Formats: sequence, C-alpha cells, structure tokens
Amino acid sequence: MSAKIKLLPDHVANQIAAGEVVQRPASVVKELIENAVDAKATEIKLIIKEAGKTLIQVIDNGSGMNVIDARMCFDRHATSKIKNAEDLFDLHTKGFRGEALASIAAIAHVELKTKLEAEELGTHIIIEGSKFVSQDVVVSPKGTSFSVKNLFYNIPARRNFLKSDTVEFRHIIDEFQRVALAHPNIHFIMYHNGEEYANLPISNYRQRIVNLFAGKTNEKLVPVTENTDIVAIHGFVSKPEFAKKNKGEQFLFVNDRYIKSGYLHHAIMNAYDGLLKEGTQPSYFLYFDVPKHTIDINIHPTKTEIKFDDEQSIYAILRASIKHSLGQFNVSPVLDFER
Ligand code: ADP
Ligand code: MG
Repeated sequence: MSAKIKLLPDHVANQIAAGEVVQRPASVVKELIENAVDAKATEIKLIIKEAGKTLIQVIDNGSGMNVIDARMCFDRHATSKIKNAEDLFDLHTKGFRGEALASIAAIAHVELKTKLEAEELGTHIIIEGSKFVSQDVVVSPKGTSFSVKNLFYNIPARRNFLKSDTVEFRHIIDEFQRVALAHPNIHFIMYHNGEEYANLPISNYRQRIVNLFAGKTNEKLVPVTENTDIVAIHGFVSKPEFAKKNKGEQFLFVNDRYIKSGYLHHAIMNAYDGLLKEGTQPSYFLYFDVPKHTIDINIHPTKTEIKFDDEQSIYAILRASIKHSLGQFNVSPVLDFER
C-alpha cells in the first residue's frame, strides 16, 4: 500500500482536465458543434445567451444516443470514435479524446435530450458539477440537444476571468465561422440573445464564404486548386487589391479541420510577393487534403495545431499554386505612387 499517493476522485480529475479543454464559452461551442458534426447532423442550431455566460445550446438532427450512451457520454475517456492507438492515425471524426463532455459537465449545469431515429422516446439527463441530478424519458425529435448553463459556476476564479460579452462573443463567432466554413454541406443557424445571427443554408464552399462574409466577397475571390500525391488543395484567396490593413479573413483547413499555421501563412504571403501594398494582408480560405497517416493532430488538446510529415513540400506546392492562380486571373503588381 502506498503511504501518501492517492488517485483523485473522478469529479476532481474532471475539473482539472476541464481547465485544459474549456478556456471560455467558445470552447464549449466548439466541442458541442464538433460532436454534432461527428454525429452526421445535416442541421445544427446554436443558441447563445449573454455571450455564452448564461446559455450555450446546440441542437442537432444527427444520430442521437440510446439511454446507456446518453449516460456514458459524460464519463472521462468515454468515446465511440476510436478503439485503439492505431485509430489515432486514421481519424474520421473531429473528436477522439472522450474528454469534452466530462469536462464541461464538471464545471457547468448541463441538460441533455437525445433520441435515436429508431426509437419512440428519448432520454433526458441533467448533470451538474459531475453529479447526475435527474434522468427520465422524454418525447423529442431525432438527434441531440445539449444545454450548458452557468459555465464555471463552481470555479469563481475562472468565471471572473471571463472577458466582456463583446470579446467572448467574438471568440464564439470565430469558432462558428471555422466549423461553418469547413462544412458547407450542413445547415447552420445561430441565435444570440433571441435574435437570429446567422442562417446558412446547405451550399458549396464559395457560396458558404459569401453567405458568411456578405458584402463584395464574391468578386474578391480567386480560386486555387492543386492535386499532388502529397496534398490536394482547393479554396480561394483574395485578389491583392482587396488586401486589408488588419489581417482580413484567414482560414486554413486540413482534412476538414480548422488549423493555425504560421508556416503556411508565410507560404501564402510569399506567393503574393510584390503584389501587396505594404502592411496589408490578403484573405484566404484554403482547404488541404492530405493522407491521414502523414499528419499528427494529437499534439494539442484543442487540436488547432497539427504536425505534417512533409511540411516543406506542402509549403512549396501551396506557394506555387497561389502564384499560378493569381497569375491566371491577371493580377498585376501594385504601382505604389506614394513612395
Ligand atoms: P469525443 O467527441 O472525443 O468522443 P466527447 O466527450 O465530446 O468525446 O463525447 C463523448 C461521446 O458522446 C462521443 O464519442 C459520442 O459517442 C457521444 N456524443 C457526444 N455528442 C453527441 C451528439 N451530439 N450526438 C450523438 N452522440 C454524441
Ligand atoms: Mg467531442
């Protein structure tokens, strides 16, 4: 018997893990929407109150869960998405850690309603601070609804650390845009404080970008396409004359997953060499498809940083491909008379 070492009780372990997974309301939005995508929903509704501080609800028309899974989904390391370590290199889903719901339920009031298509009735569960409060049978449509209320209610330090509603809402919009851009084949609807904020019908990539960013987006976009064994690229970059003083809209996706990469950003900037007014940056919406075994997405809990086996080749292919596209669309160098 050990003298001083003890295993932490589950609810304590969950609260510690939650610190990593859930930084702010936007983290909950990301995890719940990704679960809805993984459940093969074709319609996802996001309902937010007070920038997610009082309510974050995600309603999907996906697979739903039976009563046993509905209970188990709140356990730590409980996942239907991988079975062994090899599966990590052949992921078909956004999730795989089985940590999000356990973490969220540890630090908020959570209500779940879920129903399988084949079943008559669904399951309704309330869990607060990792403790099951109630479970009953409910009449509900096929799919799943998670409501998350009073986030960080039991971690005052975290709750006080939250920024203004404007800032927290901006983070939520960022997550919403990322997943909406990655999945134009899903209908997304979003409400904030009772008002419709976005309604994005099922469409193609170009139309999804235009629906999200409105204005003159369509005429700004130059298509990019490339097909090699290492990487396939599709998407759009903005014409240089539309480059912006602030960063513009910049999105990179790898195998349908939003990622951040300073390295690939550099490749893009490099492709615009001589075409941009000083201090401006283009917008870009670029989708990369790479063989699953050539990336590792398990290096960070939020999974926005990934590791490519052959980063250098991807850099070179991306740069050449954008240069080619800009050339094809007759983009000429900027004549900067101010200098
Ligand atoms: P992960 O997504 O990494 O598997 P989560 O904690 O996010 O872990 O979810 C745990 C499990 O709960 C999932 O693997 C899935 O089986 C189930 N689940 C979660 N959300 C949904 C949903 N919206 N629809 C159907 N099943 C869901
Ligand atoms: Mg998940």
